[in-house]
Amino acid sequence: MYNPKSPKAEEFIAHQEVLDTLEYAQKSKSNAALIDSILAKARLKKGLSHREAAVLLDCDIEEKNQEIYKLAEQLKKDIYGNRIVMFAPLYLSNYCVNGCVYCPYHARNKHIARKKLTQEDIRREVTALQDMGHKRLAIEAGEHPFMNPIEYILESIETIYSVKHKNGSIRRVNVNIAATTVENYKKLKDAGIGTYILFQETYHKESYEKLHPTGPKNDYAWHTEAMDRAMQGGIDDVGLGVLFGLESYRYEFTALLMHAEHMEAAYGVGPHTISVPRIRHADDIDAGAFKNGINDDTFAKLVACIRIAVPYTGMIVSTRESQKCRERVLHLGISQISGGSRTSVGGYVEPEPEDEKSEQFDVNDTRTLDQIVLWLMKTGHIPSFCTACYREGRTGDRFMSLAKNGQIQNCCHPNALMTLKEYLEDYASEETKQTGEQLIGDELKNIPNEKIRAIARKNLDEIIDGQRDFRF
Ligand code: SF4
Ligand code: SF4
Repeated sequence: MYNPKSPKAEEFIAHQEVLDTLEYAQKSKSNAALIDSILAKARLKKGLSHREAAVLLDCDIEEKNQEIYKLAEQLKKDIYGNRIVMFAPLYLSNYCVNGCVYCPYHARNKHIARKKLTQEDIRREVTALQDMGHKRLAIEAGEHPFMNPIEYILESIETIYSVKHKNGSIRRVNVNIAATTVENYKKLKDAGIGTYILFQETYHKESYEKLHPTGPKNDYAWHTEAMDRAMQGGIDDVGLGVLFGLESYRYEFTALLMHAEHMEAAYGVGPHTISVPRIRHADDIDAGAFKNGINDDTFAKLVACIRIAVPYTGMIVSTRESQKCRERVLHLGISQISGGSRTSVGGYVEPEPEDEKSEQFDVNDTRTLDQIVLWLMKTGHIPSFCTACYREGRTGDRFMSLAKNGQIQNCCHPNALMTLKEYLEDYASEETKQTGEQLIGDELKNIPNEKIRAIARKNLDEIIDGQRDFRF
């Protein structure tokens, strides 16, 4: 029944294979020799199978767990350096016909303020986001055939790309909308989107159906096979994710990796990113009512094991997590974070009055983008506003092969410094600017290729003179 190449959800995420894997991992969790051999394989940076990764997740030998964390940190450093890519979510509309029991936008919620941005509203929101310094957005919208049809999403993407305020521009729009048809994915591809992101929420079919009692999202196969249709529509950068807290984290971890293996087996390219949201309180949603919540230690272990299992897949953590928690997982494998986020419709232009709240979840890290940029630099990271790859046609397997042979490093590092420089020139506070100038000076020396270093230096000077948008 289990077949990673199958187009059918119930075959590439075969329930019995998940259960067998969990049983195998439980039996192997104290097997030091096996864990050593899995760690040795992981050090080759070629990833692990879901069975091997599940053993690491369950490992209960303290000394080996320390090795797991150390290896995750090492892989993070080797592949992503000290760069962290920044983005912000933009909520277009919270009208939704689905009944997801963990999200306040569910159709039965009659008291939450329902909002949908007009194109003029979008221009204002994007201007506000550009004035913060953002270059990369993830757009979000509920599923509603009349209020949020594909034409509305496409028009909104066009509007977002068209706004050029002062030196600002949004250079990459990632899209997080409901599972749709191959035809609509083709339209999104033609609109120039970056990554198509769709969270599975839970891979456990029975739980999935209970958690999505009404609406089109109730169809497990339609939702789980969405990435296949996205690939068939020409979108080769897709982002996976589960909502940790809905089901057992061990089940989700295993199935998530099986999904990644399916993408690789069926299309020759694994997921571009994996997001790791945990359930949060929001409006009529009580996170405490979900019995599968995970603590910070388990969360850190999940991040470390995902990093080891799929070393070339970017990993995203949002402002759902606190500063402290984000700091911990940045070292273990996170490569992208959001900053200065508003999780409500229209929240960037003005804060919402108490009786008109439309947030999807409570934000835990409420710092401004400037505070986050400064914090990242002070904790040894380079905040990057880079969006170069998809604009240079480096997507899908082309991106993955450059990532796997390490050549992408020649792009990521100088691009991070140049986009940070733009941020410092246009948006940073005095303290952030001073800290950033120092950091760029130090990090320039770390560009190994002399020619690239010289070009980067010249571009940095030209940014001071007002030029923008250099990229490798
Ligand atoms: Fe709608 Fe998405 Fe919320 Fe479900 S998670 S209610 S589909 S907005
Ligand atoms: Fe990401 Fe590509 Fe920029 Fe590197 S060069 S940070 S992989 S967009």
